[in-house]
Amino acid sequence: MDTDLVDQVIDVARRIVASGAISANGHGNVSLRVPGGDEMYFTGGASLRDHPADLVARVGLDGTLREGQLPPIQGAVVAMHTALYADRADVGCVMHTHSPYATAYAVANRPIGCWIEALAMFGLPDGVPVAGYGPRGSDRAVANIRAAVRPGVPAVLLANHGVLVFHRTPELAVLVGGVVEEAAQAGINAGGLGGPVEIPADMRAAALQRAMIFEQKGTVST
Ligand SMILES: [Zn+2]
Repeated sequence: MDTDLVDQVIDVARRIVASGAISANGHGNVSLRVPGGDEMYFTGGASLRDHPADLVARVGLDGTLREGQLPPIQGAVVAMHTALYADRADVGCVMHTHSPYATAYAVANRPIGCWIEALAMFGLPDGVPVAGYGPRGSDRAVANIRAAVRPGVPAVLLANHGVLVFHRTPELAVLVGGVVEEAAQAGINAGGLGGPVEIPADMRAAALQRAMIFEQKGTVST
């Protein structure tokens, strides 16, 4: 077991918890692709809160356990992670949570619309789609995820379950997880005010463009 990678997985779990985009019981899982390899490091614990290092497992992208422990309840969702690594060569981190507001949309089988700018800026200009229900990690669930996710989209709601985020780096995955939860919370709060209003499609592109211009410029000086 590569202790650096174990530490990295634990650190991502800690950052997800610190972001607040997590349910009270901390249920979820996160994995990191081993660079240049055919395997991933995966949290085998039931909760991401204070996840113990000895429950991080090394798992082949074919789904087989190579080292460590993988309780059956966690082993069942491995396919959700391996499918994304197989489909997307650029994905380096996959995370799954039951963050409460986003999960409310998932339970309602409702997509999150692009009603906050950050969604447009971070790869979700069409909002967050819903993958139809299938038992967690089953062939049906994985097929539904594949059907719902368009190229480049970094997050999907899992109907009647939770949220799945996948990105190049753990930093981006945690960031997107937070943005999705923030958008869901805003959407639910706006429900009492006539409902959220989506940003016009041309303005979503403009929001992304403006963010990219600022990124290229680097630090803004006065
Ligand atoms: Zn789950």
